[in-house]
Amino acid sequence: MVRVDILRRRLGLAALPPAPSSGPVMQRHQITRLRHETRKRTLTLSSIEQLSPHMRRLGFTSTDLGDFASAAHDDHIKLFFPSADSAEDAKPCMRDFTPRRFDADRGTLAIDFALHEAGPATTWAAAARIGDTLEIGGPRGSAVVPDDFDWYWLIGDETALPAIGRRVEELRRGVPVATFVVAGPGESQQLTTQAAWTAHWIARDGSSDDAAQLRAALDDCPLPPGDGFVWIAAEASVARRLRTYIVEERGHAREWTKAAGYWKRGQADAHEKIED
Ligand SMILES: Cc1cc2nc3c(=O)[nH]c(=O)nc-3n(C[C@H](O)[C@H](O)[C@H](O)COP(=O)(O)OP(=O)(O)OC[C@H]3O[C@@H](n4cnc5c(N)ncnc54)[C@H](O)[C@@H]3O)c2cc1C
Repeated sequence: MVRVDILRRRLGLAALPPAPSSGPVMQRHQITRLRHETRKRTLTLSSIEQLSPHMRRLGFTSTDLGDFASAAHDDHIKLFFPSADSAEDAKPCMRDFTPRRFDADRGTLAIDFALHEAGPATTWAAAARIGDTLEIGGPRGSAVVPDDFDWYWLIGDETALPAIGRRVEELRRGVPVATFVVAGPGESQQLTTQAAWTAHWIARDGSSDDAAQLRAALDDCPLPPGDGFVWIAAEASVARRLRTYIVEERGHAREWTKAAGYWKRGQADAHEKIED
């Protein structure tokens, strides 16, 4: 069966707005914003797991984690790395990462590093040894998207995979969640979840860009019925194009679409919130 939104696009018609439920969009599915007290914490590396060719999970322990809080799957912490600049007033070298898994009782925190060509975070994670220490800051806040939607789509590249994996693991029993992840060959992961998870692993083919490959996969999938939340994170220009596609071409409510640039080609330490 050809879906109505795909048919309308083929005919050059504007996408239909999402089916109305009861009440205006912003009165349902309220996003809760929390602030956390921030301080620096020193962690000790206690485990190293190579999840896939380029994804390395580092497990940390610390008594500093006793009051650590991370309420949302897309929270971020700052990791501090030694600066290459030896000047006294050199700025600290910081990078954003996702608290992938946190166990308050055990005082453990896992961070997944998507290893790429070069950069202080990649270099540090690739060379890290048990017993090494790492300073972190944050998260400063959490924007908690409630687990009361009818369905979820989570879209991104390997830098988004830690947040996507965490969300899939944390969603409620039976809720439909589809993930669309573009990554190098062999980078797919097994996740344990109670949600009804459909995984679309898209092997980067080098012949087209990430946005085009993700879009091709999304083109084949109808938006499920009911209220849904679409989350996107990838290289900034890729995330921007996908947000435009989801909102303007697929007609998904912009209030229920969140997109962020998790890195920027040719620029170190980039984080971009993508809005209109
Ligand atoms: C909120 C948030 C959460 C994030 N969570 C994670 C996470 O959990 N795990 C994770 O691995 N990353 C995550 N990222 C992405 C990560 O912060 C960036 O990839 C960061 O640039 C890596 O730092 P670096 O020191 O390795 O490289 P940088 O010094 O920042 O960059 C050096 C060069 O590498 C390029 N580059 C950066 N990242 C990539 C990449 N992935 N592939 C190819 N080229 C790249 C840059 O364009 C630059 O030219 C997150 C980003 C944000 C904003």
